[in-house]
Amino acid sequence: MTTSTGLSSGTTLPPFITYQQDQLMLEGVSLDRLTQEHGTPLFVYSRAAMLHALSAYQRGLAGRQHLICYAMKANSSLAILHTLVQAGCGLDIVSGGELERAMAVGVDPGKIIFSGVGKTRAEMRQALEVGIGCFNVESRAELDVLDEVARGMGVRAAVSVRVNPNVDAQTHPYISTGLKGNKFGIAHEDVLSTYQHAAQCQGLRVVGIDCHIGSQITQTGPYLDAMDRVLDLVQNIEAAGVRIEHIDFGGGLGIDYQGDNPPQADALWSALLQRLDARGFGDRKIFIEPGRSLVGNAGVCLTEVLYLKPGEQKNFLIVDAAMNDLPRPAMYQAFHRIVPVSPRANAAPMTWDVVGPVCESGDWIGRDRELAVQSGDRLAVLSAGAYCMSMASNYNTRGRAAEVLVDGNQAHLIRARESTADQTRLERLP
Ligand SMILES: *Cc1c(COP(=O)(O)O)cnc(C)c1O
Repeated sequence: MTTSTGLSSGTTLPPFITYQQDQLMLEGVSLDRLTQEHGTPLFVYSRAAMLHALSAYQRGLAGRQHLICYAMKANSSLAILHTLVQAGCGLDIVSGGELERAMAVGVDPGKIIFSGVGKTRAEMRQALEVGIGCFNVESRAELDVLDEVARGMGVRAAVSVRVNPNVDAQTHPYISTGLKGNKFGIAHEDVLSTYQHAAQCQGLRVVGIDCHIGSQITQTGPYLDAMDRVLDLVQNIEAAGVRIEHIDFGGGLGIDYQGDNPPQADALWSALLQRLDARGFGDRKIFIEPGRSLVGNAGVCLTEVLYLKPGEQKNFLIVDAAMNDLPRPAMYQAFHRIVPVSPRANAAPMTWDVVGPVCESGDWIGRDRELAVQSGDRLAVLSAGAYCMSMASNYNTRGRAAEVLVDGNQAHLIRARESTADQTRLERLP
């Protein structure tokens, strides 16, 4: 069943997105107006929605020593980073490039943590030079290289070992990271010896322990299991004489894409802190690394309908956004809601597969969607704030989309549309 706004009944819009006089609005800004000003495809983000999502974590961790490090790979646009850093966040980085972006928005380097399984020596040096807060080390081999690089510079690198707690986050296998058999973290049984080794290294200073069990997690159980596993390890490590100052529980909290019902960040943390206290670790500093849950539902991608292509088996709606802008459906068969920007009153909806212009059958954005549209209409792909623009590519020599940040009634262009000249700038004929 479809309402006059073109929304299936029962569909709820993410916070700060509303229909007003049959126009889709983000905060106080008409999205139709933005498409006229900036063209499509266009990403639009709500500052209020990001701060609203952050405030749930801040409430949940209030009164505790803590650091919320935004996992910037979810969306690394400078204005997004700036917004979250100004609100007090540190940053979780995974590359030297992300480090440079982090520094460009003026984050306190002591609030940067460096994750990832494949840090190069050059990236380690770069991070030690600016004095980042902590390296989350993922293997014994990496630990030894970091020790060597730090000694060579006459400094000590603050380290935390990422442990693989071997719990099932019950999410998509490509975004599940806390099970044996994936590439992340150090296996449970090797953790103690790794810490004993790290404590002996002249170039290292052990400060913490961390885990990250996956992404788009919608249940509290896996987090509690991971916490228990990590605390067991902390007990053993400290019994061996190595003090753990902070415990980092990673990111991974899911968002509502399609009636998903993840716990709210404050409720999740109230349950987790209760467990932490019960086990006698309530005095430790807590680090977290949320990405998707801070920005995912703060963004939409606006796209224009190019062609209607009804067919015998399928009706295709060809739009001007594609898998290079919105890679999640092609990569993970992910679901994004798609709603009209200016719904057509009283028009009969049809069932469409919403697809992009890229020459791949995998280039789809939504399947079997009830929409009443004509060519030239604009659609909003919802929940597009995380892992969309930061994963965008130039496949088919498509320029990456422009981005706008909305704040109340104001709209700021935060990234211009990429031109072909931008794309070919580094290329040379032989
Ligand atoms: C990707 C990642 C995160 C963020 O995950 P979300 O699901 O976006 O919250 C946090 N920590 C590490 C180590 C990651 O790789």
